Amino acid sequence: MKLKGDQTTTRALNRRLILNLLRQHGPKSRADLAIATGLSPAAVTFVIGDLIEEGIVKEGTAVSGLTGRRPIPVEIDYNHGIALGFKLMADTIECVATDLATNPIAAMRVPLPLSTPETVTNVLVDTVPTLINLADRPHAKLAGVGIAMPGVMSHDQTVCVRSNRFDWNNVPLAEMVASRLSVPVWLEDDTNAYAIAQQLFGLGRQHRNMAVLAVGVGIACAQVIEGKLYRGANGAAGKMGHTIFEPNGRPCECGKRGCLMAYHSEASMLRRWKEQTGGGEDKGRAEFRVALVSEDPVVVAIVEEAGRCIGTALANLVNITDPEVIVAGGEAVSLGEPFLAPLRQALAAGTFRTAPPLLPDWEDNSWARGAAALVTQKMYDFESSGGTKNFELAPAIAASAITGSSSLM
Ligand SMILES: [Zn+2]
Repeated sequence: MKLKGDQTTTRALNRRLILNLLRQHGPKSRADLAIATGLSPAAVTFVIGDLIEEGIVKEGTAVSGLTGRRPIPVEIDYNHGIALGFKLMADTIECVATDLATNPIAAMRVPLPLSTPETVTNVLVDTVPTLINLADRPHAKLAGVGIAMPGVMSHDQTVCVRSNRFDWNNVPLAEMVASRLSVPVWLEDDTNAYAIAQQLFGLGRQHRNMAVLAVGVGIACAQVIEGKLYRGANGAAGKMGHTIFEPNGRPCECGKRGCLMAYHSEASMLRRWKEQTGGGEDKGRAEFRVALVSEDPVVVAIVEEAGRCIGTALANLVNITDPEVIVAGGEAVSLGEPFLAPLRQALAAGTFRTAPPLLPDWEDNSWARGAAALVTQKMYDFESSGGTKNFELAPAIAASAITGSSSLM
C-alpha cells in the first residue's frame, strides 16, 4: 500500500524529471515525454496539467507533416516570471532582472557606499522597485531574489558564514532582505551561483560533470559532479585560489600566505604591474588591457605567467575530479588569448589524460545572471535549492505588488 507521502514524492520526482527534460531539450509532445521518461501517458498528462495551470508550461503549436497532424508540443514558459540577481562587489552591486531561463531583461549598477550587512540590505531593497520597473513586465510574477558574493555560505543558501572580502561572519543576509521584500531570497558564493547558471542554461547544460573556473578579484573553480553542484562539508569547496602556490609567500586576503590568488588573480596581476613599473591610480583594468593589446612586454609577461600558473593548478584539479568540460568566466577571460593560450597549454601538459575542452564564457552580466539562477534553480527542484523558507508556499507574487503600481494599472 502506498502512503500519501509517497505519492507526493513521486509526483515531485515526475515533475522534476519532466521539467528538466523540457529545459535540456526544448519543446516535446506529451507522448514523447512519456517515452523519454518511462512514465505512463496518464502520469505525464497529469503533471503537465498542473504545470500549465501554474503558468510554468504552455502549449506550443502543432506542426503538420506528411503523415498528418502532429501532436501538440509543450514547452516551458520562461516569461511567466522574472528573477532578480544581485552580485555584491567591494563598492558596487551589479543588478539584473532575467526571465526564468536567466536571459537578462534589464540591468543596472548601483554604488555601495559601505559594505556592512545593513547598508547592503538597504541598497538592495531600495533597488528592487527600480529594477522591476526597468524590466517592464507588469504581468510577470516575481519568483524571487538571488544574491551572489564571494565567501562561504550556509548549505541552505541563506547565511554568509564567512566572507574575507567583506569581512563578514555569520550574516543572515537572505533573511534580512526577505523580511523587507516578502519574496524568497537565496544567497550563494558568486562562483557557485555562476556554476548553477552555466549548468541550467549555459555552456554546461548537456554535461553532468563540469568545472567552472572564475578569475576576477579572486580565483575559484566550482565543481558540478554527477549533475549537482559540489559544495563540500562546509560549503567551502572550489576555493582553488587559496591552494598554496608558494609556501610562506605573499599574504592573501584569507590571512594565510602564498595562495594562488595572491599572485595571479586579475587584481593581483594589476598590483604586480604597478609594483614592477611604478604608478598607481592611472593604472587600472582599462589601461592594463590597452597595454596588453599594444604588447607591452611587462604586461604580456604577467598575463602569460598567470595563464600558465592557473592552468597548472587547474590540471591538478582535473586529475582529481575528471570533468567533461571546463567553463571559464570572470573578468580575466576578457584578456583573451594572451591569457587563455598559456592556460590551455599548461592544462594540456599537466593532465593525466587528454585535457577537457576549456570553454570561455564571453557573455555580459554573467555574475549577476548567476545570482538570478539561484531563483530559477528552485523551479527544477535542484538538490541545492535552499533559500529563505518563510515564503515557500507562495513563491511567486505579482512583480507590480513590489513597485506598488498594481492598483493604478
Ligand atoms: Zn588565501
